[in-house]
Amino acid sequence: MIRSENDAIFDRLCHNSEALILHKHVHMKRPNAHGWVPSIVVLALSSVLVSAQTHVTPPSNKYALSDDVKLGQDAAREMRAQLPILNDEEVTSYVEGLGRRLVNAIPRELQHSEFRYSFEVVNVRDINASALPGGPTFVNRGMIETAATEGEIAGVMAHELSHVALRHGTAQASKAGKYEAGSVLGQIAGAIIGGGWGQVVSGVSQFGFGTAFLRFSREYEKQADLEGAQIMAAAGYDPHDMANVFRRLEKESGGSGPQWMSDHPNPGNRVEYIEEEAQRLRVENAVRDTRAFEQAQSHLKRLPRAPTTEEAVKQRGRTTGTSGRDVPRPSGRVQPPSSRYQTYREGNLFQIAVPSNWRELPNNNTVTFAPDGAYAEGVFTHGIQVGVARNESHDLEEATDELLQSLAQGNRLSRPSGYDRVTIGGRRGLRTVVANTNADGSREGIQVFTAQLQNGNLFYALGVAPQNTFDSYRDVFDRVANSIRFTE
Ligand SMILES: [Zn+2]
Repeated sequence: MIRSENDAIFDRLCHNSEALILHKHVHMKRPNAHGWVPSIVVLALSSVLVSAQTHVTPPSNKYALSDDVKLGQDAAREMRAQLPILNDEEVTSYVEGLGRRLVNAIPRELQHSEFRYSFEVVNVRDINASALPGGPTFVNRGMIETAATEGEIAGVMAHELSHVALRHGTAQASKAGKYEAGSVLGQIAGAIIGGGWGQVVSGVSQFGFGTAFLRFSREYEKQADLEGAQIMAAAGYDPHDMANVFRRLEKESGGSGPQWMSDHPNPGNRVEYIEEEAQRLRVENAVRDTRAFEQAQSHLKRLPRAPTTEEAVKQRGRTTGTSGRDVPRPSGRVQPPSSRYQTYREGNLFQIAVPSNWRELPNNNTVTFAPDGAYAEGVFTHGIQVGVARNESHDLEEATDELLQSLAQGNRLSRPSGYDRVTIGGRRGLRTVVANTNADGSREGIQVFTAQLQNGNLFYALGVAPQNTFDSYRDVFDRVANSIRFTE
């Protein structure tokens, strides 16, 4: 039961540095024929330097290009099984044409000949778009319907295509260790799909472990913005339209907001730096609206209103049985937690003591402890799940907010009323309780514990029990959380 492999995990988690550097491309003017440049000219040259576009360096990646293609194709197949693809020649060929135009503008050093870009429209009304490793790209109908200009669609697509060209999915997986949520495929697909879709793609799990673990880092987001702005400009679009669409999406994202915003977190000053980049790129006679754009929009208006992603997934789940996967149900005969506790060592990361009648159920990325009858593949009704979520905020409260937001994606989760300060393994921690309503209408309580690891990633433990017995489990969850020791 004791898993002792992966001794280097904690080390990796703690030194999971992101070596992403955005270099400025410096175009030095050659000295004049005399090999001498008067200082007044050097001063004048600085405006050339400022107006050069920002050079984006792809992050290091231990995967082969063919892995990107394979993972992306697999995830795309899942997407098609789970989501309604719009079968409309006019709209699809419009998006395809726009996509090709952008793909052709990807700089040569990021053009990977193995990649197979494809473009499909998802018949849902939420504003979102996603691109999978190696090229499969999905644009929500809602994105096209609500765009103010063609440049706005191009901006979102160029951002997505930049994640593909810079290979962010596999770059992120290259850094993932055990106890980082998401299997490699789930992680990659979720990273790009995010949120509700991430949950769909990474399969059956009780919680929608979506965005907080799986979405891209802020560095990658900034890279995709800058590279995307350059691709747009090279394709004849004005990157100001990218700034415009993000500004609009952000304004609309008060509350839950468009999914796109939580899948692609704002690295800070997003609109500002895109506008600065647009200033440098200075596109003349940019394409904003085309006849094809207007035609596609008015064509969509004539079609029946699209469902939300959630409605569409539910609908398909009813008709196709969630792509043929049966969710096993726990048997429900559950013994109360033993008062005797058993200690488990989890890799080189932590140790934990749980009631001795709970079993250890390791997954590639989390470990769950649950009694017999309370779990089935990927689902548990009583017990505690422990894992590590990627986070960069270095602020415990903010990181915990993000964790809860990601849990809320695809779940009917109540908002926490506040956080209690606790100590977990000698570190500052937080505790809160939220309620979740399952798909069958049953309710459960979740006691959430979080603490921050040295690298900023978030250690979490989620104690779960059905609502009618939840109160009797709360002390058990506290005791389990108290037993946690980090074993550095
Ligand atoms: Zn992004």
